[in-house]
Parts: sequence; C-alpha cells; structure tokens
Amino acid sequence: MIRGISFALFGLLAARPAGALQAAAGKVDITPILGVEQVYMAGFGATGRRPAGVHDPLEARILLLSDGRRKVAIVSLDLIGFFRRQVQELRRLSGFDQPGTFLFVAATHTHSGPDTLGLWGPWPGVSGVDGRYLKRIEKAIAAKLAKLEKGMAPVVAVGAQGTINPRGLCRDSRDPVVIDPRIAALRLRTRAGKTVATIVNWSCHPEVLGPHNLELTADYPAYVCRDIEAWTGGTCVYLSGAIGGLLTPDKKTGADDWAEAARIGGAVARAARALLKKPAFVDSSARLSAASKVVSLPVENSRYLLMLPHLVFGHRILDASGSTLAPWRRWAIPLERLLGLLRRSSLPWVRTEVAEVSLGKAEILGIPGEIFPELVIGGYDARYAFGHPMIAPGNPDPPDLKKAPKPPYLKRFFRAPVTMVAGLAGDEIGYIIPGYDFKIRSNALMLPRLPGHYEETNSIGPSATGIILDAARELLGGSLTKKPRR
Ligand SMILES: [Zn+2]
Repeated sequence: MIRGISFALFGLLAARPAGALQAAAGKVDITPILGVEQVYMAGFGATGRRPAGVHDPLEARILLLSDGRRKVAIVSLDLIGFFRRQVQELRRLSGFDQPGTFLFVAATHTHSGPDTLGLWGPWPGVSGVDGRYLKRIEKAIAAKLAKLEKGMAPVVAVGAQGTINPRGLCRDSRDPVVIDPRIAALRLRTRAGKTVATIVNWSCHPEVLGPHNLELTADYPAYVCRDIEAWTGGTCVYLSGAIGGLLTPDKKTGADDWAEAARIGGAVARAARALLKKPAFVDSSARLSAASKVVSLPVENSRYLLMLPHLVFGHRILDASGSTLAPWRRWAIPLERLLGLLRRSSLPWVRTEVAEVSLGKAEILGIPGEIFPELVIGGYDARYAFGHPMIAPGNPDPPDLKKAPKPPYLKRFFRAPVTMVAGLAGDEIGYIIPGYDFKIRSNALMLPRLPGHYEETNSIGPSATGIILDAARELLGGSLTKKPRR
C-alpha cells in the first residue's frame, strides 16, 4: 500500500521573515473560440452538447500575493474542473514551480463551460477536450501572472464570515439534507482604500442553467462577481465550496434561465457585501503562508477500473509501489475486475494534493474534488436541514444516520476567524463521500445505480475520503488525537 506516501509538496513557506503584504489582481478571458476550438459543453450527461454561442465570458480570476519573499497566486477558473496535470503544467509555465512560490488553482465547476476533463465528448466514453484550448488558456494565465507581478501594491486584508439562509438559493438533492450555509469574503484593499480583489466563498453547484442551455456561461458565479465588482471595483475571485452531497440551486419551479442565475448570484453578492460592511478583522500586517500535501488515492471505482486502458483521468496511473503502472497491467486489471479476481493490493493509484493558503486571519483550504458538506460541518442532527426533512419520505435506500461520523468535523480544525473551503482545488477527483453512506451495486459495472446514489459512480472510491481528510487536518495543524479548537 502506498497510502504512507504523503509529503509536503513544497513545505511550509512561512519559515522566513517577510515584508508587508502586496497584491495585484486581474482577469483573463478563457472563453473557447467557437468555430476554431472544437469544444463540447461539460456537465450533466455526455450528450454531445456543442455550444451555439457565448452568454458571458468565462474567466480566469487571478489574485497574486507576495510578502517580498514568498509569492502565492490564487486562481479561480470558470470551468467544470482542472486536473492536477494541468495545474502542474500551469505552475511550470508561470515559474510557480520554484521554491517560495505556490499556485492555488480552483475550478468553479460551471456546468455550461467546455469539457476540460474528457467526460463529455460526442458520446459516452469519448473525450470532448480540445487540447489546443487547454494549451492556449494555460499560456494566457501564465502571461497574466507575469504581468500582474509588475503592478503589486501594499494591501490591507479585510475578512468577514457569516451564514446565509439557503432556502430559495440552494438545496440538497441527496439525503441526509445538509446544506452548508456559510459564506466568507476576503477583501484586499490598498492603504488608500482601493479594492484590489474580493474573494467570495459559498457552496452550491453552478448549474442554474440546465442541460438544454447551449450558451457558454459561468452560471450564477458570473453574477456574484458582476455585482461584487460593480460595488467594490477590483477583481472578484469566486471559490466554490463544499458542493458535493449534492448541493444544487434551489430554483423556482421550471426556472432554468438567466434571471434565475442573476437572482441567486445577486443574493450571494449582497450577503458578501453586507458581511464586509461589518468585518471580522481588518489586518494591515497579514502574514502569508501556503502549504500542500501530495497524497495517493486508490482507484476503487469499478467503472474507472474497467475503463483503465483509456482512462482520460488526467493522472499518471501508479501501482502499489508508486511506480507508473506497467502498460500490460492497464489491460489486465479490467479483466481481473470483470472476473472478480482483482486483489486490493493490485489496485491502481493516482496522486492528488490538498492545499492550504493562510493570510493572517483568513485560511483557505483547497480540497481536490467535490466534498460532501457533512464532512466539513456535520449536521446529522438536522441543524443544517433548514426545514427540509433530513431523509426524504420514500427514500428506498436512506443513509443510516446512526453510522454517520461523529464530531469533530473538518471546520473545527481551522484556527483563523475567517475560513474557506475551496472545492475542486488543485485537481478534480470527483465526489468525496462519507464512508458510511458509500453504496454501490456489487456487480463489476456498478449498474444499475442505487437510487439516490449517483455520486458514487463519479467518485474515485471510498478510501479517498479518509486520506483527503487526514491530509486536510494535518495542513490545518490539527490531528485526530489533538483537541480541536472550539
Ligand atoms: Zn458536481
């Protein structure tokens, strides 16, 4: 087993003394060039959806931070996801693979952007990714990072955190009902009061526009950022939070349109704005640090195993010793799985990363997939059900809440007053599901799906959850044995 391979990618950057915090921010348009780049739309089923137009530009929203010695960039992409391979390529292109630097990249998970994961091509099993598109945007983002570096200004950090009643904004489509109501905002402004950037973090799938939409859009986060930028100036950086589980827009019946995306985005922007009027802190000497942990995860999902020869998974496939899987094993493993002969010790593995960026009194944890909110905030006592029944009447296979994990949950391990969980950060390994509720058909194909258990089919497997949570707790400075901060 290579679970033990879990090491700091570049170590804690906070070890050396530093100067005043400086920042610069900006956007890069990453909308596919229709008619030139052959993209398919991502999200929902693989139905060969080709974009017919652009409703609003897809952006890479970039915040560059430095204290004179360390350099950290936070990049939010209006994309369904961005594999670690692409993140590493971006680091290489932009010089963020050097000591003392860290590039934190998160996707918003918009369901009306291009396929960047290889899951939504013309038909199921065929990639819809245009490699030219990925290369173009990687270069454009790297160029923007270099440009921003020339315009850094000293900044003050202003942070705020609160909750928002999710009714009418976000609902949980999978039992138990746990809706993360937390919203956090971090504004960086110059000493003269000019906003450089505002980070907003909230948890709900950007899928107001449904499978029938053929116009590229960043979905409701476009409206969050439009409103925030109109109010404060500067660049808005939207970070999707703990959206697994599955948190989806609470739309008015039948509404699947731009007005609905504007309504939800506008409400989130207003909540962030109200919070920032009464901030939790104004920090003129915020200390910058970043760290990440690379962890290995076993590929347990039967469907991924059966597709192993063609797995467009954005990862190098490893064997149990951590070496690249021998080519013949990519063919032998599916056969062994089909025949029920695959041993646990022969499972393939992939590497991913968990990251943490700290800005004095604000902490951002990057989780490389769609984590279920209950793993972050708990809520098995119905405190985050907001009037919905915890278990829908008639659920044929309800979760056994007696077996649900006990506290402390991940949020208790943060130490700063303003905390953010950014999902799909550094990678997209799919849903991160509590082990007690990970249910699949025991046949090799995992078909038919158990009703209400869609997420398992888009998860790397049940073991990933504990490995990622352990790494997250370690980065946050806690451990299972240490008493967490209340
Ligand atoms: Zn999703």
